Amino acid sequence: MRRAGQVVREVLELVRGLVKPGATTLDLEKAAEARIKELGAKPAFKGYHGFPCVLCTSVNSEVVHGIPSAKRVLKEGDIVSVDCGAIVDGYFGDSAITVPVGQKIAPDTARLLKVTEDSLHKAIAVVKPGATLGDIGAAVQTVVEAEGFSVVRDFVGHGIGSNMHEEPQVPNFGEAGRGMKLRAGMVIAIEPMVNVGKPDVKVLKDGWTAVTNDGSMSAHFEHTVAVTDTGARILTE
Ligand code: MG
Ligand code: MG
Repeated sequence: MRRAGQVVREVLELVRGLVKPGATTLDLEKAAEARIKELGAKPAFKGYHGFPCVLCTSVNSEVVHGIPSAKRVLKEGDIVSVDCGAIVDGYFGDSAITVPVGQKIAPDTARLLKVTEDSLHKAIAVVKPGATLGDIGAAVQTVVEAEGFSVVRDFVGHGIGSNMHEEPQVPNFGEAGRGMKLRAGMVIAIEPMVNVGKPDVKVLKDGWTAVTNDGSMSAHFEHTVAVTDTGARILTE
C-alpha cells in the first residue's frame, strides 16, 4: 500500500506543477494517466462505477468527482481539487490536494485551503490504536467550524486496502470518543471536504460532479493513513 501511495503522491506533485492559468483539466488528466502507466501502476478511478478518468478535477464550487475536460480552462484565482487513486499489485492508494491557480487567489479562498489541509493533519494526529472514528471527525470539524467554514456531510472518508472503498466510513464530523475504535493494521483514507458556505451539496446532471448548493468555494485534501502501534503512518506522503 505504501508503494501505491507513493505512485499517487508522485502523480499529484506532477499535476500540482501543471496547474496554471490557461491549462485545462484534461491537460492534468493526460499527464497523470501517462505517469501512472510509466510507474507501472493502474489507475484506481478510471472505470470505477463507470467514472471516465484517472483523476477527479473539481474547480471552485465543485466539491468532488469533477470530470476532466478540454472545455474546462483554469483561470487566475480559481482553485482546483485534484483527487487520484492508484493500484500496485492489487493494493490501493488514494490522496487529494487543492491547488490555487496563479498568484491572485482571494484571501477567503486562501484561508479555505489552509484550514482544510490543517483539519486533515489535525485528524491524522489523533490516529492511534484505541482512538475512535468520532475522534477523527471531531478533530476535522473543530478546526473547520472555528474558522466559520462547514464540513460536507454527504461524502466521507473510508477504509482502503485491496479495494478503494472498504469499511468503515470515516466521517469528517462527529463526537470524540464515539464510533469504532482504531486498531493497528487498519488503513483509512481521511478526506475532509470543506465549504466556505453551507455544507449542502448537489450532484450535476453528468451524474458525478458534486457542487456546493450555495455556489460557495470548496476544498478537499486527502491522505491514505495506516494505523500503527505508535500512531499514524501516512502512506501517501
Ligand atoms: Mg480520493
Ligand atoms: Mg478517498
